[in-house]
Amino acid sequence: MTTLNERVLIVAGHAWQCLACRSKLLADPDGVLTQQGLSPEERQLLSQIEPGAWATVTSLAEALGVARCDLEEAMRHPRSRLRHF
Ligand SMILES: [Zn+2]
Repeated sequence: MTTLNERVLIVAGHAWQCLACRSKLLADPDGVLTQQGLSPEERQLLSQIEPGAWATVTSLAEALGVARCDLEEAMRHPRSRLRHF
């Protein structure tokens, strides 16, 4: 299992929980992601998630290539809940 940087999971976790930020991310991935302190590879990974993959935690975890429990853990992180894009 690839270990993704926690920052990626926190950004994905916030977008999962916050529809306003998810819309922003889907509309302008580059604009949003350049402000999140991510590497080019991390930005690419997040920007290539299919809109349909946001439907469930399971499909989002699959799109990111991480275990669902790791994504759920990142979603419980306070930064994931509070930090808007
Ligand atoms: Zn938000």
